[in-house]
Amino acid sequence: MIQECNNYSLLPHNTFGIDVKTAHFIEYDTEEDLRRLFTSGKVARPWLPIGSGSNLLFLKDYEGTILHSRINYLKLTDETKEKVHICVGSGVEWDDFVAYCVQHGWYGAENLSLIPGEVGAAAVQNIGAYGVEVKDIIESVTTMDVQGNEQVYAVEACHYGYRHSIFKEIEMQNKIVTSVCFCLRKTEGFTLNYGTIREELKNYSGEPTLPNVRQAIIDIRKNKLPDPSVVGNAGSFFMNPVVDRTKYESLKNDYPDMPYYNVDETRVKIPAAWMIDRCGWKGQTRGAVGVHDKQALVLINKGGAKGSEVAALAEEIKLSVFQQFKIDIFPEVKFV
Ligand SMILES: Cc1cc2nc3c(=O)[nH]c(=O)nc-3n(C[C@H](O)[C@H](O)[C@H](O)COP(=O)(O)OP(=O)(O)OC[C@H]3O[C@@H](n4cnc5c(N)ncnc54)[C@H](O)[C@@H]3O)c2cc1C
Repeated sequence: MIQECNNYSLLPHNTFGIDVKTAHFIEYDTEEDLRRLFTSGKVARPWLPIGSGSNLLFLKDYEGTILHSRINYLKLTDETKEKVHICVGSGVEWDDFVAYCVQHGWYGAENLSLIPGEVGAAAVQNIGAYGVEVKDIIESVTTMDVQGNEQVYAVEACHYGYRHSIFKEIEMQNKIVTSVCFCLRKTEGFTLNYGTIREELKNYSGEPTLPNVRQAIIDIRKNKLPDPSVVGNAGSFFMNPVVDRTKYESLKNDYPDMPYYNVDETRVKIPAAWMIDRCGWKGQTRGAVGVHDKQALVLINKGGAKGSEVAALAEEIKLSVFQQFKIDIFPEVKFV
């Protein structure tokens, strides 16, 4: 089924809670619906596919068509003693898929518990948390272009990097992700050496099991991040910058406690949250917007904020980080 609305409010479709409208809003249930939409010419430029809007900042009303997938299936395509292969529609809630894997005893997705959004966007964004990125469990991603042609991208062809994929590149802007195929393990194996997972697990009898690891991650996240249904936000606003090791070494003289992660022999990643915190931003407010008091990387809508106010605060933060550390930070959130 296809559902369409004109002059439609995007308030329920962005976790920042920005009150804007789109000229045209379309939801579709199947790949066939999307093909029909494209080939009928109903989808005029500009158009934008969205999921739950948990990584979007709307700066003004959208004067085009917003497309939202409700392709909602989970299909087991193959199973061996060690692995399962499952293809999932782009409109499935990401965390529902993680819960499904955990319930079925399949390993690989549990560290990505409670990340907001839908399966299609997860593959576009290469979502990551607690030492795992979604590319680690993706086998292939299927897209449809404006002519209604499907194309399957094996994971190697997706050009995955830190919060990056081929689907973010300019030549992909006439394609929509329709489904994602995953490979999960049936044999036990956890990634626990990241953040406070091991400590949190002590609340669950210590032994890691799939439900315990999922619950530990959910608890850590609930403790650290504001719930978008209560306080508008889009999670981490900025990406962690990757800098030359020499740059990091020189900064370390001035900031011996500066944390970092090795990227390769010549580059390190510096947590943007640490730098923003050192600039004194945690808990700061500017009218209707502010910086979360527990996590400096999260910008919040305190109520009724405009997208432009969030963007202005982000710019101020970016400038102050540059002034103090001479490092550029860039938004993870997409401005629309
Ligand atoms: C509280 C909170 C915590 C978060 N924690 C994390 C975290 O730990 N790790 C992490 O990586 N992210 C995190 N995020 C960010 C966000 O959850 C992810 O980026 C998520 O994948 C966005 O999914 P979405 O469905 O909301 O996509 P949207 O925000 O709607 O869209 C994101 C991008 O994907 C594109 N897109 C969406 N659907 C499709 C499609 N079917 N085909 C092609 N393009 C598409 C959009 O055009 C846009 O460019 C967090 C966000 C919040 C609010």
